[in-house]
Amino acid sequence: MMAEVSMLKPTAANPATSPTLTDVLAASVNAKAVDALALLKKAAAELKAVTFANSFGVEDMVLTDIILKNKLAIDIFSLDTGRLPVETYDLMAATEKYYNTKLNVFFPQAQTVEFYVKNHGINAFYESIDLRKSCCHMRKVEPLQRALKGKTAWITGMRAAQATTRTSLPVREYDEANKLEKFNPLSDWTEQEVWAYIRLHNVPFNALHDQFYPSIGCAPCTRAVAVGEDVRAGRWWWEDPTSKECGLHVK
Ligand code: SF4
Repeated sequence: MMAEVSMLKPTAANPATSPTLTDVLAASVNAKAVDALALLKKAAAELKAVTFANSFGVEDMVLTDIILKNKLAIDIFSLDTGRLPVETYDLMAATEKYYNTKLNVFFPQAQTVEFYVKNHGINAFYESIDLRKSCCHMRKVEPLQRALKGKTAWITGMRAAQATTRTSLPVREYDEANKLEKFNPLSDWTEQEVWAYIRLHNVPFNALHDQFYPSIGCAPCTRAVAVGEDVRAGRWWWEDPTSKECGLHVK
């Protein structure tokens, strides 16, 4: 049963007039949300041990809403790198309250972080791509590997339009690095459709999105973007766009 998704309805429907832009957008979101729900259900039924990585970006909040409101048999986990913005922690707390749930949070290994900081410095990720990638590895990739252990598939909120590194993102793929199936149910969603879903369902979201942060990661590696800039321009802004992935989604 698609209980929550089927609640999406165009507003101000009037059979005597042509559909408004809002009607068209709501209909588009409605159809895509139904597809995403069907894909998630199929993944859970087919692969059993399925987990969703919620990084509290706006796309991930859409999937969190669909999974929890429809009580899907999909675990949800999050990574706390130790360098997240305070607004993300606020959203984590708000999510627990709104959905009456408890988060499953994975942290980096304390000894590895201590070693890195002692040898390279607390903000060494600004100094070179290698040091940035090793920081992402210890704070994100290694905890992700622990979170995926024993799982047969994982779900992400990635969209193809988010970055030049994601333009050919399929809805389903084999994650060679982690050796399991990977689903990207929002692959073909536009940013406008994501926000339409959030507004139509009153889904909680990160307050930084209202301060020109379309994509949010760790605090020291994320900045606001200017009008017209790429959605991911505020992530690792000092690096070349083609290298801007943290290692969670490598081929
Ligand atoms: S985004 Fe920045 S602070 Fe966060 S893990 Fe990567 S390099 Fe480290």
